Amino acid sequence: TKWVYTFGDGQAEGSSGLRNLLGGKGANLAEMANLGLPVPPGFTITTDVCTYYYDNGHAYPPDLEKAVEDALAYISRQTGNVFGDPAKPQLVSVRSGARASMPGMMDTVLNLGLNDETVVAVAKAAGDERFAWDSYRRFINMYGNVVLDVAHHHFEEVLEIYKERKGIELDTELSAADWQELVKQYKAIVEQETGKPFPQDPKEQLWGAIGAVFGSWMNSRAIKYRELHAIPASWGTAVNVQAMVFGNRGETSATGVAFTRNPSTGEKELYGEFLINAQGEDVVAGIRTPQDITEKARVASGSTRPSLENALPDAYAELVRIYTLLESHYRDMQDLEFTIENGKLWMLQTRNGKRTAKAALRIAVDLANEGVITQHEAVARIEPAALDQLLHPTIDPKADRKVLVTGLPASPGAACGEIVFTSEAAEEARKVGRKVILVRVETSPEDIHGMHAAEGILTTRGGMTSHAAVVARGMGKPCVSGAGSVRVDYAAGTLTSGGVTLKAGDILTVDGGTGQVIVGEVKMLEPELSGEFATLMGWADSVRRMKVRANAETPLDARTARNFGAEGIGLSRTEHMFFDAERIVAVREMILSDDEKGRRAALAKLLPMQRQDFVELFTIMQGLPVTIRLLDPPLHEFLPHSEAEIAEVAQALGVSADKLKARAHALHEFNPMLGFRGVRLAIVYPEIAEMQARAIFEAASQVAKETGETIKPEIMVPLVMTSAELDLTKARIDAVAKEVAQETGVTLDYYVGTMIELPRAALRAGDIAKTAEFFSFGTNDLTQTTLGISRDDASTFLGDYVAKGILATDPFVTIDREGVGELVALAARNGREARPGIKLGICGEHGGDPATIAFCEETGLDYVSCSPYRVPIARLAAAQAAL
Ligand code: ADP
Ligand code: MG
Ligand code: MG
Repeated sequence: TKWVYTFGDGQAEGSSGLRNLLGGKGANLAEMANLGLPVPPGFTITTDVCTYYYDNGHAYPPDLEKAVEDALAYISRQTGNVFGDPAKPQLVSVRSGARASMPGMMDTVLNLGLNDETVVAVAKAAGDERFAWDSYRRFINMYGNVVLDVAHHHFEEVLEIYKERKGIELDTELSAADWQELVKQYKAIVEQETGKPFPQDPKEQLWGAIGAVFGSWMNSRAIKYRELHAIPASWGTAVNVQAMVFGNRGETSATGVAFTRNPSTGEKELYGEFLINAQGEDVVAGIRTPQDITEKARVASGSTRPSLENALPDAYAELVRIYTLLESHYRDMQDLEFTIENGKLWMLQTRNGKRTAKAALRIAVDLANEGVITQHEAVARIEPAALDQLLHPTIDPKADRKVLVTGLPASPGAACGEIVFTSEAAEEARKVGRKVILVRVETSPEDIHGMHAAEGILTTRGGMTSHAAVVARGMGKPCVSGAGSVRVDYAAGTLTSGGVTLKAGDILTVDGGTGQVIVGEVKMLEPELSGEFATLMGWADSVRRMKVRANAETPLDARTARNFGAEGIGLSRTEHMFFDAERIVAVREMILSDDEKGRRAALAKLLPMQRQDFVELFTIMQGLPVTIRLLDPPLHEFLPHSEAEIAEVAQALGVSADKLKARAHALHEFNPMLGFRGVRLAIVYPEIAEMQARAIFEAASQVAKETGETIKPEIMVPLVMTSAELDLTKARIDAVAKEVAQETGVTLDYYVGTMIELPRAALRAGDIAKTAEFFSFGTNDLTQTTLGISRDDASTFLGDYVAKGILATDPFVTIDREGVGELVALAARNGREARPGIKLGICGEHGGDPATIAFCEETGLDYVSCSPYRVPIARLAAAQAAL
């Protein structure tokens, strides 16, 4: 087996294609060498060695030592120096590099090969004592820290004390003699902390560092990172050993980092920082303030220190030549690391640069317009989920903030307002135009109106799939959930965290993208939906096959959905319309009625309000399809719970509190999710479905008349398990349609379909499709009922299931392909067989998840429906799935 790959001087044994074997850093160093770029010579020890090391009780392959010897000899042939030679010593860096860049891995060790003897030779060869001793002390510090585990602060303290005693402020003012003295002290620290003298043998140093890189693959930080990012341990890391070049040799030497385009805005300009007379990570370490690379940036920043362009113009010109070449070679924005030694530029790293969502859009669109990549590639390059950052106001990253607490980033965007503790207070404030943040321990369906009225939501309990989180995401409202250390005292009207107490009316800012809760107001940036965003979405739409609809019930949601490009409403949940303060009285009256007559009387009061809801939706959607779901939740959700509320409601309705309690008691369910809900309501109380159907048909004929649009409502019956349930309900709906047609003189076309959300319905989809004119897969309930897991109770164990690899991902976020997905595929197949051309869609949280959308494309569904704020994400994901 070939364990070691060399690179340097216009050639390399590896290339960027060997990323798995050489790691990202090693593969790109090889690629740059192949391109003839100035890369210090070196070699990569492959990830296979890492695997071997762990498979064989921390032992190396027997022939590795020889391969490393040969590779060191290769470096010597290029540089004329010899590793470990006291007269002409070659110094090297040892750098880790996995396939994917991975924090947690060993930090780079520079200047390896220095000892008490070679330091003298280096000083002589360079004609610079100070440089040699500065390099040596850096080496002892780095090696001591990353290989021997001596804490960095030991070295820092000694340096600080030394500088203080000498009355010196900057490291740059220290002389060769100072560094020589400090080297002595540094070595003493190592001996004191490890019980052994600092290793003087360069071979021992080298193998020590190589071992530390492989060892770091299994440190707890790296393991945790791999867990979070689903990186298998079997990948292993590579080790790069590379001849040193020195940015700390004086005023014509420097080190720096650069991006080929601006990583936060995407603007096409060389962007970066450098430091004269510095080494390695000095630029990012923050000890000295770095300088701008271009003159333009220097002018913009107002810096008085020269740009690289002015200070070292030849090296700058070379950097410009190389960055242009690298960007067109990799066909993407690059993140570069370089060092200049005595005016000569050396490349030490290149990789595709990390960027903000905004920059990603701009760069993809620009590269396509420049002809570097195709439009399809541009579409493929944008991470759909990243668009979320762009669709909401966000906190200005430059703004100062006083963070009270950090909870879970439950729904993105930032919002600011006065604290309120009840949904009623939120609504009242909203009416008079005040902006509020609704703070609750947790939220329930009764808080929907309060959540609508609030700018943002903060809860102290509940996770990423809690009621507050799910509803807030659906509304596109910023939400921080599960801020467990916040104490809410409803009675006192206060919230307390870390000794700070805020009261109702105080200003609070929540950042649902980071989970930060901030005291007071912070400067915000508005979303930008034109420009590159619009261009890229246009390209995405031109390759997309599936339609994208939105889940929406309020006019605001429907309008937002249209703005974001929704092509219809895939789910309008009528129960949300019933929680409105005015209507809930009639809803409760209906529930409390003793007979059908009483119920019909109460429903008659609801009819005009419900009709108006649909008039608004049909009007906003201008003839696009609108799917309306009949009442779904169990009736007890509409009844009051606390004694105080019961008394109040009883009085309002003119019934006794006892009667109300008795009814609530009778409706109580042990497992409401599997209780008296969905189509079961329509079977037992058909008058409810009839009222809703009437409201739909009357609204549709009214809007059709007013606007001249063809309105073809889609009525969706929830929680069907047998075709008989649907047959009965459809017969009622058809009868209402006839009545309305007679009354209005308008004959409407409409569809009656069903949600497929129970396994039995999926299995019997062929029967059901004989009646159903469309299916919408309700994957939330279908997941709950297929897995037998209640979403609201899953948080206690689901995390362990994912961590232990029993489930690949949270099945409430991404569809469980093997189980739920299999049912969806089966139902789609049998449904189509029974009714060719039957419309198939998916609604619920999964409809906005890119991985689930890919599944929907494979299964050949006609559309996905998701919350309005996820519509652009779904459009892009559907396009990528179709590519
Ligand atoms: P990271 O993965 O943390 O970026 P690197 O291995 O890229 O670590 O090393 C960090 C820095 O160390 C580089 O950006 C470069 O400035 C410096 N460095 C690494 N190897 C060498 C070398 N052979 N000569 C000079 N500087 C080096
Ligand atoms: Mg680092
Ligand atoms: Mg680097």
